[in-house]
Amino acid sequence: MMDEKIIELHQSQLKFHRILYGMLAICVCIIFCWDMSQVPRGYFVLIGGTVVVCLLETLLSKLSFMNRTFVLRFFTLLQYVFYFVMLYCLHDKNAFLLIGISALVLTFMFEYSYYNEISDVFGNFRSIFVLVLPAIICVVVFFCRYGVNIDAFLMLAAYVMLCLFDILVVRLCYISEHKYMNDIHVLLAQIDAIEDNNEELTQVKNRVEKVNEELNLQRVQLAQANREIQQNNSELEAQAEILKFINSSFAMDISYVMEYIIDAVIRVRKVEFCGIYIDKDICYNKKPISVCKCQSRPELTECTELSFLFQQATNSEDDHQIIKEFPRERFPNLSQTKVCTMLVLPLVLNGEKYGIMVSGSSKYQVFDTYVRFYDLIVPQFDLAVHNVKMYAQMRHIAQTDGLTGINNRTHFNKLFADQMERAVKEKRALTVALFDIDKFKRINDTYGHLVGDEVIKAIAHMAYQLIEEAELGFVCRYGGEEFVLALPDFDIEQSIPIIQKLHEEIASTTVEAYGHVVTMNVSIGVSSYPELCDDVNQLIKRADWSMYYAKEHGRGQIKIDGPDIQEG
Ligand code: GH3
Ligand code: MG
Ligand code: MG
Repeated sequence: MMDEKIIELHQSQLKFHRILYGMLAICVCIIFCWDMSQVPRGYFVLIGGTVVVCLLETLLSKLSFMNRTFVLRFFTLLQYVFYFVMLYCLHDKNAFLLIGISALVLTFMFEYSYYNEISDVFGNFRSIFVLVLPAIICVVVFFCRYGVNIDAFLMLAAYVMLCLFDILVVRLCYISEHKYMNDIHVLLAQIDAIEDNNEELTQVKNRVEKVNEELNLQRVQLAQANREIQQNNSELEAQAEILKFINSSFAMDISYVMEYIIDAVIRVRKVEFCGIYIDKDICYNKKPISVCKCQSRPELTECTELSFLFQQATNSEDDHQIIKEFPRERFPNLSQTKVCTMLVLPLVLNGEKYGIMVSGSSKYQVFDTYVRFYDLIVPQFDLAVHNVKMYAQMRHIAQTDGLTGINNRTHFNKLFADQMERAVKEKRALTVALFDIDKFKRINDTYGHLVGDEVIKAIAHMAYQLIEEAELGFVCRYGGEEFVLALPDFDIEQSIPIIQKLHEEIASTTVEAYGHVVTMNVSIGVSSYPELCDDVNQLIKRADWSMYYAKEHGRGQIKIDGPDIQEG
């Protein structure tokens, strides 16, 4: 047994010792009080010895010295021997007192064997021997005094049994305590293991939480990337669609292209407003073209502000502008929409700004990050405009006369065929005038062909201005120095002042070219459906005959179709 534990146990046993001493003292006092004359001397020894033992015990518990446990064990043995000797000496006196002394003998016997190393078998035998030794000495003394006697043998045998019983009980205590300690150790080990496990679990939990956090972050990042991929996909799809559209034959009408791109931007970027403005004369358009769409106001298809924004973009050096304020006086239409932020991107062709694309969002600061899409859409639109322009150029070349720039005969025939059909179907008037420069050969011969060309150009220009630009009808160069004009919805009466005006202008104009001043005149033949010519297919022929009539009858005049006109 551990030394500290022996000392601790001994300390706790002291108060029980005192109780036993006290009880013994009470017993002896009762005997004294009962019959003082009969008290044997051995009782005095008992009382005196007990007082000495009690004092010594108290003193030993207070002092600290080397090998204290040995001293305690030895003193316990001493106490045992003292009370054993008292029991032996007084065994024939008072039987009740002997029970009290026996209690002390047994107490110290148990304590002594308990303080010894009980797990050691040799130690057990040694304890039995030490405890039995006083009994053996007493038996020897007994034999010396009274001779060999069976009672002494029996007493010794009984005492050895008592010692064995003592050892047995103490061993049982030890075993149960050992088992209890073992159990405690097992429990402590289990608690340690649980704590370790717990610690491991806590660590695993922390790691799992950390991994979970990272996974959550990755999930959020993945969702964000997924959204961006989806957005990019739809943008790419839109761009592919736009490219396909631009390459298709539908893309030759610029207004249609503008509408298509606006729809694509609204669909992909989900913006509130989108509009495109292009300046005049970009694709042979005589006026600026402006197309817009607004999600919350579908009726808004014209936006006058776009022309103002185009002017601003033209004057600015920036590659894009973001507008966040829409005062009503400057933006009468846009201020009525949900637009909060507007991106204005200039449209550029051959280094020149020719228009703008605007995109308006109902959110703030949305264009700070999403200009990229428009950066790709705008060049596509520029490409579309370029295509339209090329197509228009080719069409213009195919439809116009190279020298004068007015309609050529082929295109005139097409336009005129449409008008003929319309005039017949809708019973509308259609007047035609054919005119030829008088004595043009002489101009050529006198001033040269280049001057002649300038005369042709001047007459064509006058006719174009007066008829086509004024949107009264259309003109064409019909042959070398022959022209024809058509006036749809004009009867002969309405047409004559127009034709007269043209004739007067030609006749009164002089062409200055290559240092020459040339005057000119024309002969004009006119016919009109249905008043003068009831067969629309004969109109040009009748006008031609009328012109020849004018030539033949003095030139420089207008001849209106009539009964006198015959094939010349
Ligand atoms: P008339 O009054 O009878 O019409 O007499 P004219 O001289 O105008 O008639 P004619 O048909 O004899 O002459 C037409 C001339 O126009 C012949 C041709 O050389 C010339 N001409 C035709 N096309 C062009 C052109 O593109 N440029 C020039 N400079 N001359 C042309
Ligand atoms: Mg002529
Ligand atoms: Mg001619």
